[in-house]
Amino acid sequence: MLQLLKAQAWLAQSKDTQSKDAQSRCRRKEKGMKTRILIIEDNEQNLYMETFLLEKCGYEVIQARDGPEGLEMAGRLEPALIVLDIQLPLMDGHEVARRLKEQPETRDIPIVVVTSYAMPKDRERVLANGCEGYIEKPIDPDTFVSEIERYLPTPPPEIGDGS
Ligand code: MN
Repeated sequence: MLQLLKAQAWLAQSKDTQSKDAQSRCRRKEKGMKTRILIIEDNEQNLYMETFLLEKCGYEVIQARDGPEGLEMAGRLEPALIVLDIQLPLMDGHEVARRLKEQPETRDIPIVVVTSYAMPKDRERVLANGCEGYIEKPIDPDTFVSEIERYLPTPPPEIGDGS
């Protein structure tokens, strides 16, 4: 409940486009082509919040609401990173991760699991499946994007920066 209030406060604050503080949380805001992120999440509230936070930082977000849909979109739309829920309809996140890491065309896409399971065993299983990251729900709107960005591949250097 506290987390929800915090999220609402953050959303209200972020409507102020002058907020430098809010903008400074975004590492790659609006630089040329947008980086595409796939969110596989069946809870509408979480999906809305995660999408809002990432889009605000200039990412293109595509959404899947169950496991098979997520797998299909990952193979077809080549996201730079996948945000993955564990409790999903039709196929759970563990199975989705296992299959993504099995397919040559999706194997190299970093997966960040976002789950309310605070169980150490769950975390172990997620990492054993080859997922790169793990974030616990409820998500913290102040740190969500920067945590995700830790797992994004390094962007190519900008043309003409001389380094
Ligand atoms: Mn779920």
